[in-house]
Amino acid sequence: MKQTIKSHFKCNREDLNRLFACNRISALVWNKILELQREKLRSKGDLQRMLKGLYPINSQSVQAVTDKYCAACLATKSARDNGLANKYPWRHKRNYPTTWKADGFKLLGNRLKLSLGIFAGKRQKPIEVKLPPSTLKTLEGVKLQQVSLVWDGWLKLAIVIDDGKESAPAVQSDVTCGIDLGEIHSIAAFESGGNAIIITGRLLRSVKQYQQKKLAEFDKKLSKCKANSRRTKKLRRAKRRMLQKMNARIRDLNHKITRSFVTWAVENKVAKVYVGNPEGVQRKKRRRVVNQKLSRWNFGKHLEYLTYKLSAVGIVLEKISEAYSTQTCPVCGRRHKCNNRNYRCSCGYTAHRDVHGARNILSLGLKGRISITTPIKDRKYLRTA
Ligand SMILES: [Zn+2]
Repeated sequence: MKQTIKSHFKCNREDLNRLFACNRISALVWNKILELQREKLRSKGDLQRMLKGLYPINSQSVQAVTDKYCAACLATKSARDNGLANKYPWRHKRNYPTTWKADGFKLLGNRLKLSLGIFAGKRQKPIEVKLPPSTLKTLEGVKLQQVSLVWDGWLKLAIVIDDGKESAPAVQSDVTCGIDLGEIHSIAAFESGGNAIIITGRLLRSVKQYQQKKLAEFDKKLSKCKANSRRTKKLRRAKRRMLQKMNARIRDLNHKITRSFVTWAVENKVAKVYVGNPEGVQRKKRRRVVNQKLSRWNFGKHLEYLTYKLSAVGIVLEKISEAYSTQTCPVCGRRHKCNNRNYRCSCGYTAHRDVHGARNILSLGLKGRISITTPIKDRKYLRTA
């Protein structure tokens, strides 16, 4: 199975500067692509031909930018075909992650050599970084497929590895499950046997709110300092450290939340999971407050973690459109918003709002429409940490 790990590294000052330069050059490639496409729409092959040999980084790293650009365009196209208003890539960048594909790097002992290829007929000196023991341990006996230089509070390496293991055999059962990802209840799930679980993300939310507050404080202090003063530098460093710490905390909580769900799904012998796909929610709702809330909520991470955690235990995940799943009454089909813990309809139907949403998603997945599937038997609450 493929997996991406992020790692710190050490290197000398000269190589560090060259790494920063790599990401600036990759951004130039990106900007050039935007320019070329604005003139005239070109195919991926044409772009690659036009960019060849122009930049002093590995030719495969240049190709990787083209690949990512084309992938982003395809994603936008499919979103637009589904009626969303996504924009094609347009923003110019100052930095862009540089990627080294399989033959662009070599791991020798604890040293990773990143090749810069040949530029103007001359082979360039590779960049050498040192990996920490914890990363080396993870890399033992696995295949390294790709390395990217990313910004995560500081420069880090994102390494794509393949442990060569097949993913787990598919679970054999007819239990299916619908899940609803949300901000307050992080995950609400309902399985076809009638059990429900609600995993709350209050702690996650409070950590995120605290992070926002701290960020605002730093920005306020920074706005009062002179550019390039010692105090500015000090504050920036402190801000970066704070962000790193909080991000690690958030990542940890996200893992805990998704892991709890997977454990529950395994216990209930779930074979297939339908998840309401909230992609596009962010773009459809224009109100700023809503947008702020959604961006903090970060469902993308939960979806990403669920995807690989579920496939590791042989559970199938299917994304379905969750249009009106929380608002529709499964008995009479009327729609209305729900403002408290229970969803109540004028026809007499009532259910816990989060379980109600998850059950509607299950119904959408199984039958393609919202109706009653199974009565709710058991409801379990889990608070993460
Ligand atoms: Zn009703």
